[in-house]
Amino acid sequence: MMAAIISAKYPTMEFDIVIIGGGLVGASLAAALGHSGLSLALVEGRPLQPTGETSPDDWDSRIYAISPGCRGFLEQSGAWGFLDASRVAPVEEMRVFGDGGAELEFSAYQMGAPELACILESRELQGAIWQALRQQDNLELLCPAKCAALEITPEAAVLTLDDGRKARAKLVVGADGRDSWVRNQVGISAAPVDYRQHGVVANFTVERAHRGIAYQWFQPDGILALLPLPGNRVSMVWSVSPEKSAELLALTRGELCARVSVASNGTLGTMNVITPPAAFPLRLLVLPQISAPRVALIGDAAHNMHPLAGQGVNTGFRDARQLAQVLLERGGFSDCGDAQLLRRYDRKRKEDIYSMQATTYGLKHLFNNDDPLLKTLRNAGLNATNHLVPLKKMLMQHAFI
Ligand SMILES: Cc1cc2nc3c(=O)[nH]c(=O)nc-3n(C[C@H](O)[C@H](O)[C@H](O)COP(=O)(O)OP(=O)(O)OC[C@H]3O[C@@H](n4cnc5c(N)ncnc54)[C@H](O)[C@@H]3O)c2cc1C
Repeated sequence: MMAAIISAKYPTMEFDIVIIGGGLVGASLAAALGHSGLSLALVEGRPLQPTGETSPDDWDSRIYAISPGCRGFLEQSGAWGFLDASRVAPVEEMRVFGDGGAELEFSAYQMGAPELACILESRELQGAIWQALRQQDNLELLCPAKCAALEITPEAAVLTLDDGRKARAKLVVGADGRDSWVRNQVGISAAPVDYRQHGVVANFTVERAHRGIAYQWFQPDGILALLPLPGNRVSMVWSVSPEKSAELLALTRGELCARVSVASNGTLGTMNVITPPAAFPLRLLVLPQISAPRVALIGDAAHNMHPLAGQGVNTGFRDARQLAQVLLERGGFSDCGDAQLLRRYDRKRKEDIYSMQATTYGLKHLFNNDDPLLKTLRNAGLNATNHLVPLKKMLMQHAFI
């Protein structure tokens, strides 16, 4: 009875595409389709964050290393232009240390590129993409809104929100993160593999200039990365066991600085933590497919991987870029949810997703292992790679896209 009253109150809204989830990846897809001529709705559970100026002393501890290719994608949609350049740091060099003295170095100079990646805060990037969306006239923001039901018919997908509103679309995109509601609704599933590791993140000021160098130490009990932020700041991502993560979060500020300083061999001198540390659990989720009738998945909804190569969010942006491309180049297909188009998207993304997942899984296990033979091999491997410029170039080219 109640449902009948509500549906009489709200006529069904009609769109070409409904994107569920306005995080970085879902919002980037909406921005990329700004001039597509397609009508879009973006459904986001959280209220829109105000995008005022951030205080120069306030830094988000959730940061991303954005690859040049993904930066290009965000530039094309106009989102990158809304970023405050003073909060973006280029990575000019990368130094990776094994646990047996081995070292691997990559430099932008060697690659003939201005930078290897850009480091920036999650909050700033999210604000910039949302600002681009505000200029779009083909987009309806349904936010904050909660999904209640998703019905798939041969002609369309019909989303019901919990306030009774209904949205019918040719295509629904699930960009709703690692515990994706959309993925569950269409029955795409796989058992996640628990890495038994947490990513502990925090920002620091450091005594010695980082000179645009990103550092990474592979150690038997975890992987520590210190990434350059503007000025004399760095951002830490330390992947460790849940027990060690709890221990790190319980330390005083001084104790945490001392621990990170020791683990990084004092490379950057005295460290001072400037954001409270936070931790997030790491897992691997490999799905058999990332599309279903009238549904496509992108971002964390489509894959979870270890953050050691900084590729999680970049892989998500590559999903959004590929899906936008398939939709923009759909030629004779007037139906943007056509099964053939979705199969094309699924097929084109699989190789990149699986290879990123396999690489990060392999590296994590290669270094998180006490076997002395493996220790010798992994360090010899790092050293050998360091002397093979063509191999380094090949590795970096993959990270550049
Ligand atoms: C606490 C934490 C810290 C992290 N820190 C780092 C880090 O430092 N570096 C790094 O590389 N990666 C980090 N990650 C991983 C990284 O954040 C993700 O890979 C990335 O955010 C994926 O983007 P996404 O847009 O696919 O998903 P999300 O960012 O998860 O966005 C999903 C969006 O969908 C919305 N949503 C969810 N369900 C619904 C629904 N039913 N209806 C409507 N909206 C919905 C959510 O509110 C959210 O806005 C972190 C993850 C977490 C959880």
